Amino acid sequence: MGIAENLKKIRTEIPGEVCIIAVSKFKPLDDILAAYQTGQRDFGENYVQEMVIKAENLPQDIRWHFIGHLQRNKVKYIAPFVTLIHSVDSLKLLAEIDKQAAKQQRKIECLLQVHVADEETKTGMSPEELVEILENKALDDFSNVKVKGIMGMSTFTDDLNQVKKEFETIVSLFERAKQVYPDFSEISMGMSGDYLLAVACGSTMVRIGSTIFGTRK
Ligand SMILES: *Cc1c(COP(=O)(O)O)cnc(C)c1O
Repeated sequence: MGIAENLKKIRTEIPGEVCIIAVSKFKPLDDILAAYQTGQRDFGENYVQEMVIKAENLPQDIRWHFIGHLQRNKVKYIAPFVTLIHSVDSLKLLAEIDKQAAKQQRKIECLLQVHVADEETKTGMSPEELVEILENKALDDFSNVKVKGIMGMSTFTDDLNQVKKEFETIVSLFERAKQVYPDFSEISMGMSGDYLLAVACGSTMVRIGSTIFGTRK
């Protein structure tokens, strides 16, 4: 199946309110355009330089989601155009995004990434750090970022029970955050291997790469 068919199939599986983010890392411009032509507008990238080059060379109405680990010294390159940064893992990073957003006279939307998986390789703040941020109302210090919710990744495993538990942990952290910040509206969780389960557990944004574009090298 091709990119357009893959996307159309996924759209039939997921309620319309859930945002499908087509994760296009390592994929060429033509693949992104093939998805774009089906009406896809939300794309996710993991690397700053790659996202900048793609944004410069593709239609301006694409909504770019940054989903990879973000270094503070690189925020300035994506600040002019990024739609949503999913991978905020510290207040220091949030402060830098706030500063660069102010320079661009923008308000940048962000999610706080929490680490709930078993693997060390996955990034994000611990649930304890998140709770501390909430208890201190630390998000109130920033006027040029708008934090809209939580992002998380499950462990890479065939054990769907474990994945489900991790998704439920993400959702419960979201609920807890929403008590302090009632405007929170987004839970970004679910990838190619687990997006149906993620949606069943309450995800509002799924980040799907290989099921749309094929496997990556
Ligand atoms: C690569 C990546 C995805 C997409 O992964 P697939 O398994 O190809 O769907 C989603 N989220 C993050 C954070 C990623 O790095």
